[in-house]
Amino acid sequence: MYAVNDDQSIVVNPIGVVRSKMENVDDLTLPGRPAQVEIYASYQQGLLRIEENSHLWLLLWFHKANRRMLTSVPHRFNPNLPDYGVFGLRSPHRPNPIALCLVKLEATLGNILEVSGLDAIDGTPVLDIKPYYEHDIIFSPRTPYIRAVDRTMRQNIMLKEALMHHQEECPGSFLGVRMGLVADEFMGHLNSSDLSLTIDGFRCLGDTLQGLSRARLANPSRFNFQENLTFNRSIWERPGRSLVLTARQEFNVEDCLTLADEELFSIELK
Ligand SMILES: [Zn+2]
Repeated sequence: MYAVNDDQSIVVNPIGVVRSKMENVDDLTLPGRPAQVEIYASYQQGLLRIEENSHLWLLLWFHKANRRMLTSVPHRFNPNLPDYGVFGLRSPHRPNPIALCLVKLEATLGNILEVSGLDAIDGTPVLDIKPYYEHDIIFSPRTPYIRAVDRTMRQNIMLKEALMHHQEECPGSFLGVRMGLVADEFMGHLNSSDLSLTIDGFRCLGDTLQGLSRARLANPSRFNFQENLTFNRSIWERPGRSLVLTARQEFNVEDCLTLADEELFSIELK
């Protein structure tokens, strides 16, 4: 707890507002929803040629946040996690509740931006919009392992990561998400520098698993891929432990979302 000090106040004026079916903070589900961003008429000129971007950073003001918190438990992921300082989290609760949200720009209609992946409620003030550039990418960042306790949430987060990386929803990407979920359960954080990954299979599977694991070809060498048009297998290895997931056959998207792990893969843990 700290005292709000308004001696150095900065005044910002919202440039627009979120229009969403999500009206309550409790309705929000990761990884965000389709929504509209309405830009006020006096700022509309600032949207000139914005449609040349596929993705945008939105800076929002989380007007319902608790501004007196400096530590928080990421309880949406797991209420049993320890406290983290709010500056190392994306928690909405922080002294200046400025939210950073990466969205896909689906369409621009005058002063309305149709976006997907927005994690904010109806009526949230919009402070600024910036384009997402290639040089915003750190392919393999080091991040704390804040793992959602709920498997459906973990799957939804991985589906979003897969789509953002692979840019297509296809059987290979859905199979990759299911392999990634199982690998996360047996092998831990997929982004770990000591976890390496070898894939024999379709290019869409290889691309998706590279995106989920952030495994690079070198420095360190964590990723190997061999195209195989007859089967799909991923081998996950870290010192003293390995996991082999072999797809039992070729599956369609619905199978990948509905079948049990054991129906999709043979699972060998060594
Ligand atoms: Zn694909």
